[in-house]
Amino acid sequence: MTGHAGRAAAFVGNGARLHWHDQAVWFVRNKRDVARGFIPEWEELRSLGSQIKAHTLSRLPEYLEQFERNAAAAGAKVHWARDAEEHNRIVHGLLRERRVTRLVKSKSMLTEECHLNEYLEAHGVEVVDTDLGERIVQFRREPPSHIVMPAIHLKKEEIGELFHERLGTPAGLSDPRELTEAARVHLREKFLEAQAGLTGVNFAIASTGGVVVCTNEGNADLGTSLPPLHIACMGVEKLVPSPRELAVFLRLLARSATGQPITTYTSHFHGPRPGAQMHIVIVDHGRSRILGRPEFRNALKCIRCAACLNTCPVYRRSGGHSYGVAVAGPIGSVLAPHVDAKKHAGLPFASSLCGSCSDVCPVRIDLHHQLFAWRGELARRGLLSWHKRLVSRVAAWVLARTWAYRIAGKLLRVFGPHVPNPWTRQRDLPPMPRQSFRAQWRKRVRAR
Ligand code: SF4
Repeated sequence: MTGHAGRAAAFVGNGARLHWHDQAVWFVRNKRDVARGFIPEWEELRSLGSQIKAHTLSRLPEYLEQFERNAAAAGAKVHWARDAEEHNRIVHGLLRERRVTRLVKSKSMLTEECHLNEYLEAHGVEVVDTDLGERIVQFRREPPSHIVMPAIHLKKEEIGELFHERLGTPAGLSDPRELTEAARVHLREKFLEAQAGLTGVNFAIASTGGVVVCTNEGNADLGTSLPPLHIACMGVEKLVPSPRELAVFLRLLARSATGQPITTYTSHFHGPRPGAQMHIVIVDHGRSRILGRPEFRNALKCIRCAACLNTCPVYRRSGGHSYGVAVAGPIGSVLAPHVDAKKHAGLPFASSLCGSCSDVCPVRIDLHHQLFAWRGELARRGLLSWHKRLVSRVAAWVLARTWAYRIAGKLLRVFGPHVPNPWTRQRDLPPMPRQSFRAQWRKRVRAR
């Protein structure tokens, strides 16, 4: 097994971690449900968010130009990058011109997507991720495993060991408060030493030229308030027309992400602070390709809340690293094949197509339909492995014939438990029932 399936098998092999990860992520999904319950107009809000995004995407060139004009009027300089490589070159160019060798960075999935850290480090720049979860995975030289909670795959004991090694905390320390305190002391020094701060962008407002960054730790504010250079990196899809529409997304984002009514810090940057410089890098990196495909365009509405990850039974049980891309889960499986369909051909199959992702998405992206559409497209383009093609053909043939379906069900019940299957052997699932559901149900009715 290769790709997602192979990496997922490794994660599934550790039953204890699998269950713990599943429950930890499901806990956040439940918090989202509770938060949503306090907003009677939640469904209307989701529709409104979806419609605003659809409208903005339908006039994206105009809104981007408006944003550039207003950002320039506010004193920021806007740069345009066609792809990840150009984005990295622009950021490095800005740092090189100012002889910056120490950069602090707040969480940005776009820079993960572009592999900016690796690029800058290869060019002699020290990059420090200042979001606590990001710093933890950076210490481990790992990508984040979740959009909002980058280190959710790790237990506090593992973080204690890591901090003991990297920050010199006492051996065996695993108290989250004390570990956070140690990280705070370490990061304060990095903030004070930094010559530039880089942030992601949650929303960019066309009518004002401002950008909005949402964090829970205040690290974006500190990273941009101390050094004289602020670089903000954003995908083209981050635009909203005006502050009025921004309000809708701020209500949706934190509730969908963590169940909070709002993020602890919602920072607005309208131009540089006095005496400093602000540069905004706007990146395409495959997004205009998605925009040009009506059946997939909705994916650009994503506000990266991670609700679809938290609810997805496959994500919860296979972990974020199994996807092999910066953005994991259902939305990652929809986006990644647009960048490289051959490389990521396995991802649209990393879904049960239960539709839970579409149900929780705050901007009503039809995720499971898009995953299904990708499967068809990959098959048409001949990008499926031979065994997937074979299994699909056999399954289609069996499912089209009731008698064949019944026989297959009987064979599975008889021989299934004896077939060596790495998935069922590794996972502590209950054994397959000896009788079909229909037979069990009949038996129960008769017994009444
Ligand atoms: S697809 Fe929807 S649920 Fe998933 S991260 Fe994006 S906005 Fe959130």
